[in-house]
Amino acid sequence: MNYEKRQMRLEADMAEKGIDALLITHLPNIRYLCGFTGSAGILVASLRGLAFFTDGRYTEQAHAEVRGARVVIAKGMPMESAARWVGGQRGRQVVLGVEGEHVSMATLARLRKLLPPGLRVHMVSGLVERLRMVKDAEEIALLREAVLLGARLLDTAVRAIRPGIAETAVAAELEYAARKAGAEGMSFDTIVAAGTRSALPHGRASAMPIPKRGFVILDFGVILAGYCSDMTRTVHVGKPAAEARDMYDAVRRAQQAAVEIVAPGVAVHEVDRAARSVLRRERLDRYFTHSTGHGVGLEIHESPRLARSKPSNSARSDREVLAPGMVVTVEPGVYIAGKGGVRIEDMVVVTDSGCDVLTPATKELITI
Ligand code: ZN
Ligand code: ZN
Repeated sequence: MNYEKRQMRLEADMAEKGIDALLITHLPNIRYLCGFTGSAGILVASLRGLAFFTDGRYTEQAHAEVRGARVVIAKGMPMESAARWVGGQRGRQVVLGVEGEHVSMATLARLRKLLPPGLRVHMVSGLVERLRMVKDAEEIALLREAVLLGARLLDTAVRAIRPGIAETAVAAELEYAARKAGAEGMSFDTIVAAGTRSALPHGRASAMPIPKRGFVILDFGVILAGYCSDMTRTVHVGKPAAEARDMYDAVRRAQQAAVEIVAPGVAVHEVDRAARSVLRRERLDRYFTHSTGHGVGLEIHESPRLARSKPSNSARSDREVLAPGMVVTVEPGVYIAGKGGVRIEDMVVVTDSGCDVLTPATKELITI
């Protein structure tokens, strides 16, 4: 990984925002910037370079993994060492940025007590996350591997599905196969939602047995070398009625329309609109209750969010424009309470001219 390039880009962004030092506490951001994969540490990026603070449990790991930052093993709390180090900065006025979205009120209060007077603390939002939005070639290769491993698990899940078996048993087979294939873990709680439960967009596998007839939504992902995969397929137990087939077909066409529009320069809300307008023609858009997709990388949900545009909202999130190297999901769905739901999700990478679909699995309706 090219940590030096990432660190230089962060420094340039900090200079532009007038931030002299940035206290990075969000672990995926730390991993992205210096390579540390442990679960406790603080990275400070500053005019004096980078320093990584952790405790004695991570001495060996920090020295082995951290790139481009001085490693400091704190005697007490890493936060105290980090604050002392920031306080020792030269210069008349130091502006310290903290990751507003990731720091609790309690931590912030403690931090203010530790810092010398005169040091200004600024909340920053998404500074490192913005860098992480565009993946480099090495990251795309890792994401591709994670997606391939994940997609191979669909067969296992499909083989496990039969009426009467609990959703959790299907999830168990899938997760066991994932581990055996080398996954570090699942990127989120596996979703197996059968029958009327398929109308729950986030129906984590429950003890409910698979009914004799109906949709089963399978939404799952693996973590490989730190990178997440995310895919959804909806299968049908028993012969689907015409209405179920039409619903599946509408979601499939909506998903395809959204994938087809993904290209550099396209605003994220346009991808969402492409999916939604197919469903609107089928009078199903009111059952599509979430956004069309999200970025994926070291975390399962990253920027950008492929959401509907809100004219009243001055936030920039829906004005985000796709750029080569972004890896996003495309996952429209339809959920009808009391009946069932369908979702189809692929991961795609934005290329120079359009996009590559990373997920290789079929989108034909599988019936069991
Ligand atoms: Zn998913
Ligand atoms: Zn997703």
